[in-house]
Amino acid sequence: TLDFAGRIAKRLGANLREEVVHAVDGLDLTIRKGEVVGLVGESGCGKSTLGRMVAGIMPASEGSILWRGRDMKSLNAAETREAKLRTQMIFQDPYASLNPRLKVQEIVGEAPQFHGMAKRGEIGSYVDEQLRRAGLDPALKARYPHQFSGGQRQRIGIARALAVQPEFLVCDEAVAALDVSIQAQILNLFMKLRRELDLTYLFISHDLGVVEHLSDRVVIMYLGRVVEEAPAEEVFRRPNHPYTKALLAEVPRIEARKRAFAGVKGEIPSPLDPPSGCHFHPRCPFAFDRCRVERPALRPVGPAHRSACHLNDAA
Ligand code: SF4
Repeated sequence: TLDFAGRIAKRLGANLREEVVHAVDGLDLTIRKGEVVGLVGESGCGKSTLGRMVAGIMPASEGSILWRGRDMKSLNAAETREAKLRTQMIFQDPYASLNPRLKVQEIVGEAPQFHGMAKRGEIGSYVDEQLRRAGLDPALKARYPHQFSGGQRQRIGIARALAVQPEFLVCDEAVAALDVSIQAQILNLFMKLRRELDLTYLFISHDLGVVEHLSDRVVIMYLGRVVEEAPAEEVFRRPNHPYTKALLAEVPRIEARKRAFAGVKGEIPSPLDPPSGCHFHPRCPFAFDRCRVERPALRPVGPAHRSACHLNDAA
């Protein structure tokens, strides 16, 4: 269970006041070894904050993160380093996370050399192997990041992550900045790596269509809370939550749902001042009085399928 409260300085009139924003609120998420979990929601829903907490980049103010069944806070320094090394993050904009002054061979080889995963004399062939795995020609390793296309830069970021022998990849909008054809190539690469290296993924995206073929399980987040969670096929065949149905309507291929729903209307509210009761009520076409005052609990609506909507109590 995680709760992240970030302090945000907000200017109110002439005063600068500190507000507390709960970017992730009372969330309980289990990711099993070898599983691909798709985490979906609009930008600002807290999914990137969650990804950073899971990857150990950002601390949770309350709650705990268990790594191999043990609370991260109880690990000693060596165990913490090991857990962080085995969890790698792939970002939306690889260029921003690649040092422009380093050659690809240095970018990919730096961490494994530091952590003793490859000896000095063998680092060249070790880097070549990671580049090949990520679908890049090792002959290009003496070049700098700016000499590559967006898709190739993402492959460099993936090779760098693979170089420290991760078990768990947290991909935060990892294909959002790429053309559709390149997106498909990178998604196929993630699936190939899953098979070859037995990787576990948390795949964060604003687009349900992107996670559809990739995920075993899909988790839908809205304003810091999980509103629906189910095996991927179930989410696409039998969505329960009105927010999930509206997100599905935005996936162009799903014509039937597009007719039934008109997508998500309006803007996501500020997490500084979230709506009462069900956070989704100002945008929900089915909202009724109870929705404005009472937070709906995440309850079973089918096998391994949970949803947080008061309509399920009325059914
Ligand atoms: Fe809509 Fe109410 Fe369900 Fe929230 S609880 S999704 S407002 S019907």
